[in-house]
Amino acid sequence: MTRQHKRMTGQRQHDRSALTNRLELLRRQLLSDIRHYRDCMRVGGTEPGDLDDSQELCQATAAGAVRHLLDDLRAIDRALERISSGEYGVCIDCGRSIPRARLEFLPTAVRCTDCQRVVDQSLPRAS
Ligand SMILES: [Zn+2]
Repeated sequence: MTRQHKRMTGQRQHDRSALTNRLELLRRQLLSDIRHYRDCMRVGGTEPGDLDDSQELCQATAAGAVRHLLDDLRAIDRALERISSGEYGVCIDCGRSIPRARLEFLPTAVRCTDCQRVVDQSLPRAS
């Protein structure tokens, strides 16, 4: 029993650092995406034809994209905080463990599938 417990704890710690690495990596990618969009928002040119297609597309989507990326960034910071406080993987609404498969798919998840569904259904759709 004790040995079993020890092995599980070791496994948990391993998961934790792998997870932290994954989140840190995601965080860096997000920051570089945000920088990319901020750069293209700064690119001058108000006349049609001043910008090439990719710049135009970038400017058209930048504001929305940055807002979205900042949300993701906050979710990652929150997940990292939850990892260090030991609350990671526990649903914030019902307190049950969030299924591992869900965390693999969405490492920033703070709710189990059931609770998230309730939240999603109660929120008005943005689009
Ligand atoms: Zn829940």
